[in-house]
Amino acid sequence: MKVNQAEIVMSAVSKAQYPEDHLSEIALSGRSNVGKSSFINKMIQRKSLARTSSKPGKTQTLNFYLINESFYFVDVPGYGYAKVSKREREAWGRMMEEYFTTREPLKAAVLLIDMRHPPTEDDLIMYDFLKYYDLPVIVVATKLDKISKSKRQKHLKVIEDDLELEPEDVVMPFSAETGEGKDQVWGKIKGFL
Ligand code: GDP
Repeated sequence: MKVNQAEIVMSAVSKAQYPEDHLSEIALSGRSNVGKSSFINKMIQRKSLARTSSKPGKTQTLNFYLINESFYFVDVPGYGYAKVSKREREAWGRMMEEYFTTREPLKAAVLLIDMRHPPTEDDLIMYDFLKYYDLPVIVVATKLDKISKSKRQKHLKVIEDDLELEPEDVVMPFSAETGEGKDQVWGKIKGFL
């Protein structure tokens, strides 16, 4: 996909702020530090449009990136920080429920998982949450460049098995460092738009 235009049009905390233009949306989710900002920037060929927005203490928002004036990436705040307060965790949960339960333009979700390690408990919960809402999930295994070629298949298989991946879903390796996997992930996303 050639991205000619990408801009953040809204940082929403609730439904009233979601865009109303009915363009398709692809949600991007993953634990903090998984490489979500790097993924977005690489996919849209920008150095730093997506900031690392999920650090504790920052307002947790759903960030809507309008791409080529035709669809949105919706950056969902990262999960899995140990030091998040109960109140923050509850606010995050409410925001997630509100978005995923009611969002008609949402076509699929990208779930980013760090390819170096087996999925965390939070990753498993997130996958099940997305499947509960019947969403197709593209699992993107990040930081591919950090795994030697001979071990890549094994790491992908662990992710697939631990998630108990549904037949309609896929795991795709990706590196924001080298760009490997980018065209394949775009190809998959395009199928949902
Ligand atoms: P976020 O918190 O999920 O948005 O994660 P970031 O995009 O900020 O990435 C977290 C850290 O992982 C940063 O130090 C990135 O440079 C690094 N990182 C992200 N993607 C890759 C990748 O594909 N390869 C390598 N080697 N490092 C990566």
